[in-house]
Amino acid sequence: MENALQPDAQHIVVLGAGLMGRLLSWRLAVAGHRVELFDAGGPGAEKSAARAAAAMLAPLAESAVTEPAVVQMGQYGLQRWPQLLSQLQSPVYFQQAGSLVLWHRQDAAEAAQFSRQLQATCRSIAGLPQPQALDAKGLAALEPTIDARFTQGIYLPDEGQLDNHQLLQALHQELQTLGVAMHWQTARNPQDFSPAPNSQGQPQWVFDCRGVGAQVQWSQVRGVRGEIITLHAPEVKLSRPIRLMHPRYPIYITPKPNGIFLIGATQIESDDNSAVSVRSALELLSAAYTVDSGFAEARIVNLVSQCRPALPDNLPSVRWLGERTLQINGLYRHGYLVAPAVLDAVLQLFESGASALAATFSLKIETTTS
Ligand SMILES: Cc1cc2nc3c(=O)[nH]c(=O)nc-3n(C[C@H](O)[C@H](O)[C@H](O)COP(=O)(O)OP(=O)(O)OC[C@H]3O[C@@H](n4cnc5c(N)ncnc54)[C@H](O)[C@@H]3O)c2cc1C
Repeated sequence: MENALQPDAQHIVVLGAGLMGRLLSWRLAVAGHRVELFDAGGPGAEKSAARAAAAMLAPLAESAVTEPAVVQMGQYGLQRWPQLLSQLQSPVYFQQAGSLVLWHRQDAAEAAQFSRQLQATCRSIAGLPQPQALDAKGLAALEPTIDARFTQGIYLPDEGQLDNHQLLQALHQELQTLGVAMHWQTARNPQDFSPAPNSQGQPQWVFDCRGVGAQVQWSQVRGVRGEIITLHAPEVKLSRPIRLMHPRYPIYITPKPNGIFLIGATQIESDDNSAVSVRSALELLSAAYTVDSGFAEARIVNLVSQCRPALPDNLPSVRWLGERTLQINGLYRHGYLVAPAVLDAVLQLFESGASALAATFSLKIETTTS
């Protein structure tokens, strides 16, 4: 069933069908607009960071590596995701059972520093649940199969995750149902709609959600390589995301439905999208194995590398390119965490030219002519 176009329906083009592009197309089509969506890849989103991601929703854990604005957008996201998901025809796995932070003895100093950072975050941002220090008994009560060499941990209540593959598929289904015109394997850029949106023969609005693909027109966008491994391990019983302190980047094990675990993710300052390196695969797999030896018999389903779209300050940004083109980028390693806040702020901008939400979250709104 196609959507009923509203009397004031606008013709809107969305570039990029990754995370932001799909969400935005969906909400605009639900609101009764005529939406066209272009993507350089296919409906499976195989060229997007959205597909590679672990889709953890961890505002408190991420506060150690980001700004308060992202944490606050994450708090909003944790509330808003269930509302958004409940409007999809297909179910999407969403869990909010907290996450667990572990460390090897040699990383104890780093863990102490991490713990201090979390405490500071909780003092400065209202509404975050207090992290809880756990001893061996506490760990075993939460995750009985964790290796006995881990005798301490930190539990972060309320943190969540969702199944991004299910989400991308469910959004695709909604777009089909709503009659959104989807153009796959069709790369476009905002200049293809010249002289400008709303001129003769052009759509009235263009939204640019191309992630790293927007680099050609937004030179400050860069890619940050992430490598992630999918395992099938039906005998492993870990039930919530686990983060393992690591001197170079936090390694996580994220349980998904049907015995699937994502082990990720490296963070390398490079826009190299080539296959996963041996070193990264060894680090990720051995980390998983040390947490739960049940991973020994896991099957490697795939190894993926993909770049996260980032701006110089590693914060999301919305940019006006002329009067009717909005670019959304810089979601970096927090795309799923911040997407609902960014989505709702962009919709406010579209509807009224201003966004109270963007102001609340100090979401940058820039202007450029080139
Ligand atoms: C390994 C990894 C793990 C991650 N884990 C998490 C996590 O646990 N939690 C979290 O919150 N975030 C996570 N992220 C981050 C999150 O995935 C990204 O922030 C988010 O996907 C960015 O969304 P986006 O829509 O801006 O870009 P993308 O999702 O990358 O989508 C961009 C789309 O634009 C298309 N495109 C590119 N060029 C063109 C063109 N010229 N014309 C048309 N289409 C084009 C691409 O094909 C792609 O489909 C992770 C990312 C990676 C890589």
